[in-house]
Amino acid sequence: MGLKVCKFGGTSMADGQVMKKVKKIITSDKDRRFVVVSAPGKRYSGDIKVTDLLYKCYDEVANGLSCKEAFAKIRARFEGIVKELNLDFDIASILDETEERINKEKSADFTASRGEYLSAIIMSQLLGAKFIDCENVVFFNEHGVLDSNKTYKAINEALKGAELAVFPGFYGQDVNGKVKTFSRGGSDITGAIVAGAVNASLYENWTDVSGFLACDPRIVDNPKKIKSLSYKELRELSYMGANVLHSESIFPVRRANIPIKIKNTFRPEDEGTTILPIARYSPNGSIVTGIAGKKNFTVIFIEKSLMNSEIGFIRKVLSVLERFNIAVEHIPSGIDTMSVVVESSAVEGYKLDQILECIKFEVEPDIIRVTENVALVATVGHGMSSSVGTSARLFKVLADANINVKMIDQGSSELNIIVGVKNEECEKCISAIYHEFFS
Ligand code: ADP
Ligand code: ASP
Ligand code: MG
Repeated sequence: MGLKVCKFGGTSMADGQVMKKVKKIITSDKDRRFVVVSAPGKRYSGDIKVTDLLYKCYDEVANGLSCKEAFAKIRARFEGIVKELNLDFDIASILDETEERINKEKSADFTASRGEYLSAIIMSQLLGAKFIDCENVVFFNEHGVLDSNKTYKAINEALKGAELAVFPGFYGQDVNGKVKTFSRGGSDITGAIVAGAVNASLYENWTDVSGFLACDPRIVDNPKKIKSLSYKELRELSYMGANVLHSESIFPVRRANIPIKIKNTFRPEDEGTTILPIARYSPNGSIVTGIAGKKNFTVIFIEKSLMNSEIGFIRKVLSVLERFNIAVEHIPSGIDTMSVVVESSAVEGYKLDQILECIKFEVEPDIIRVTENVALVATVGHGMSSSVGTSARLFKVLADANINVKMIDQGSSELNIIVGVKNEECEKCISAIYHEFFS
């Protein structure tokens, strides 16, 4: 088929036994040549991910202490894995150097990145593959955004002559030469970057579920698996909380039309889910492809008579948010009303009051009101644009479930309908929509 890039997530790296499964998967297909790994994740419910332990290390360093105690747990975890795998290399000195550098660099990003760094070294030893440190091949520009030209060149340079290579996910180097991470779950992005750089025929993302499910399996028992979906649907669903794949991981592969396949490390024979550009995606006949939700938004509602004829009204409101450097998620609007939806964490504390004052000053609204603790639930699917009555069904089922809809936003692409509900009704809302369209 051609070159494949495989990314293995946290549960796939959790201990020596699973890493052996990973090795089996990689060596069973000679096209699987370039591997990206996450830090070891949870081995059982209640366990702590290595990345979370590393953030604890950083807390100690930031408080002027040495991270010796918190690092001891990480040391034990990695030493245990090396022992389980019977590998003959000096992990102790690598751990010593790592601990020393964490204490010296005093950087949250550097500290957090060490889980991927260490697990990639171990995986490369297990596979007899080249270890390529993303500190030297993944570059961010001055805005903190990936510098793809520089990155792709460096990756291809580092891969020259390598039959098999392992990259740590999650981090790269910023313009000051310091280690910088992506947001949480960012190893998916690294996998996509490597796939884009080598123009892979497929980006395989190996995780602990047998594909992308129609909704979060922690909310609905055994939801239907999605056989295939488009990049656009994936982007909508992952951005709205379906965190099986990081929402930014589609950009590097989309540029080169590389399909993504979600596979289960624990059930490699299962078919998984394929994610394709829209032109190659064949609708599976269902109206809705999937449902996802995300909590903790704040909605600023503004009403003013004749808002529509007041040229520049929306711009003035948005310019206030821009001045405060706040990203706007949605702007549902009516004739005399508009709402601005932002993440609550972005407007915490006094910031929200200041923003409201500035909006009042700029546009003199008749009413300005804030609703906090709002969850957004997105119902996504290309099938929705061609079928009549989808929104009627959706709102009826929410009314029947006694869920109060606080906001509605139908994307202009007709690919999604987003509703705002109370945080505590998020799961109930997802479950009601799921059962309406899938049962
Ligand atoms: P990894 O460590 O492999 O990157 P993640 O924990 O990031 O794995 O993602 C896999 C998890 O995503 C699953 O275990 C599942 O609980 C969760 N998840 C949430 N929404 C969905 C969905 N729609 N389909 C599949 N998994 C989902
Ligand atoms: N280890 C990082 C995290 O826990 C990145 C990843 O797993 O993708 O967020
Ligand atoms: Mg993940």
